[in-house]
Amino acid sequence: VSEFDLIARYFRPLTNGMPGALALTDDAALLDPPPGRSLVVTADALVAGVHFRPADAPGDVARKALRVNLSDLAAKGSEPMGYVLTLALPKPFEEAWVAAFAAGLGADQAAFGIGLLGGDTVATPGPVTVSVTAFGHCAPGTAILRSGASAGEAVYVSGTIGDGALGLSVLEDGAFAKTLGEQAAEALANRYLRPEPRLGLGRVLVGQATAAADVSDGLVADLGHICAASGLGARVRADRIPLSPAARLAVETERVRVADLATGGDDYEIVFAAPPGLADGLVKQAGCPVTEIGHFETGAAVVLVDEEGRAISLDRSGYTHG
Ligand code: ADP
Ligand code: MG
Repeated sequence: VSEFDLIARYFRPLTNGMPGALALTDDAALLDPPPGRSLVVTADALVAGVHFRPADAPGDVARKALRVNLSDLAAKGSEPMGYVLTLALPKPFEEAWVAAFAAGLGADQAAFGIGLLGGDTVATPGPVTVSVTAFGHCAPGTAILRSGASAGEAVYVSGTIGDGALGLSVLEDGAFAKTLGEQAAEALANRYLRPEPRLGLGRVLVGQATAAADVSDGLVADLGHICAASGLGARVRADRIPLSPAARLAVETERVRVADLATGGDDYEIVFAAPPGLADGLVKQAGCPVTEIGHFETGAAVVLVDEEGRAISLDRSGYTHG
């Protein structure tokens, strides 16, 4: 099949409802944010063998490519509206892979209320590479940046931490999956394959959070990005880091350390700064877990401490994807 066949068969239907996509028949797409709103733009690429496993189901790869971008939009407190997709595929193009990939995109874009605007399809001598650029909008001046935190504000994180990294271990290491048990292993693998962008929370955080980042490289690393941008340090209580039942099981039975989970990756939660004491209210407003785990302070380092305030050593500060 040719590039043009793939576009017409599998990608044109995904423009559903987006007039600016021009049915993928023109050189460029047109995008109008709602009147008076600012555009928010983010891009994230996934490379086979680096960011996903070549054996992963194409539909899961598609959904992850979309969701990691929506997670960035969520962390800025913006509303997603559409995306462009660049696919680099080895020749000959495998139509079945593209068909399953497009089906995954279709399911998710319907769930998130967005559409495909355009993209590019190219042949590559390298591994499959999927690049998504997502567009969102926000009221001018309201995007939640990394740079707005102040000393004395609390560090909060949504959801649970460590499931994505453990999910990858489950998929890579059959023995690990077996000792954890089927239920926990499946829950963790699911978190790795299908992260949940926290769009509802992002909306709620506008006007309440002073800084935010999406947690993709590990809690410590991404909190470190807020610290660097805000000119601060942070102190996080390891025992307050929220863990899922499956991750808790891994800590209790598999010699996984909380420090490992805090420096893993693929969480796609939001870490943010806000005045202390807001967790309960935010949970009610956003309908997702929010936990206060520490505070910002003068300095430059993210320090993980135990209940007595003793620093816990970190073997690494987070995955740095290539
Ligand atoms: P150009 O030669 O200008 O790069 P193409 O022939 O590559 O244009 O693309 C034709 C149309 O198909 C364009 O509207 C482009 O946005 C769209 N398109 C190509 N590949 C993809 C893709 N992977 N996803 C969505 N749209 C695509
Ligand atoms: Mg092209």
